[in-house]
Amino acid sequence: MDYHEGIIQVMNLVKKYGDFTAVKGIEFQVQKGEVFGLLGPNGAGKTTALEMLVGLRKPDQGTAMVGGFDITREIKKVKEVIGVQLQSTSIFDLLTVEEILHLYASFYPKQVSISYLIEEMLLADKRKSRIKSLSGGQKQRLAIALALVHDPWIIFLDEPTTGLDPQARRTLWDIILLLKKKGKTIVLTTHYMDEAHVLCDRIAIMNQGELIALDTPSRLVKNLQSDSAVEFRFENESTEVNLHEIEGVKQVRMHKDVYVLYTDDLQITLTSLIQMAADHQLKLVDLQTRTATLEDVFIHMTGRRLREE
Ligand code: ATP
Repeated sequence: MDYHEGIIQVMNLVKKYGDFTAVKGIEFQVQKGEVFGLLGPNGAGKTTALEMLVGLRKPDQGTAMVGGFDITREIKKVKEVIGVQLQSTSIFDLLTVEEILHLYASFYPKQVSISYLIEEMLLADKRKSRIKSLSGGQKQRLAIALALVHDPWIIFLDEPTTGLDPQARRTLWDIILLLKKKGKTIVLTTHYMDEAHVLCDRIAIMNQGELIALDTPSRLVKNLQSDSAVEFRFENESTEVNLHEIEGVKQVRMHKDVYVLYTDDLQITLTSLIQMAADHQLKLVDLQTRTATLEDVFIHMTGRRLREE
């Protein structure tokens, strides 16, 4: 087999915790050099899926080939070619950035230049700082650096930006894109749809242990066949209007007291909505229009939001 084709092949992976099936027979392939996202709400099974692919959990059924090796039979070989950053990496707080990287590198026969890695992960000014003094974003970049010391060509990142502020998230996005530029294959999990949109070449959407969609971000949104969303509230609660009758509307959603109309013809829908409001003497408030997003794809497929408020 050529390791550079379909670098990851996931075949009917199932994981059960007692009676509960957390991952229900998922299948997908990841191509070399792509950033592949597993997107889904909390509890969708993303972490469990990723942990099986990196050999931390044994599948109850199915298997996967990672870098040409079978995760159920050749996990040692898999571990030589992958780098893994998990959500709860606990690292020795009292060591410095440089010390811990040298320590991790000493576990492997093949290593990258630590000083170069420190520069690349934007930690140069923290080289001699103790880990406990780092910010959340710096710790996360260190966790990624630790996953890279043996120069793996497949990198798994589990919710790399959860809990970071917007600036630190963007810095991490740049680092992930840099790794992609260097030809690495990256599999990441996230429940941020903006992150998935910016970073991922393809996205697998997971919900309740199942893979419910897989495509490029733009094709996922395009398949909605509603490229715009119109959001508004009525000043007075109203039950007598049928929003499905508004022209151009493909779908109607309601979240709290906010209505969302999905349409493929924004102008017609807006005109028709305003006319209907006038006819029924209803006052529209907080009216806004926006382009449909991956969040809308998820709502469309599941009726739920990616991140419940
Ligand atoms: P999150 O974004 O919260 O990490 P996730 O999509 O990664 O969510 P998982 O962590 O894989 O989801 O969890 C999937 C389901 O399996 C959840 O319902 C979770 O409660 C359950 N689960 C996870 N680990 C265990 C475990 N060790 N024992 C029992 N149930 C578990």
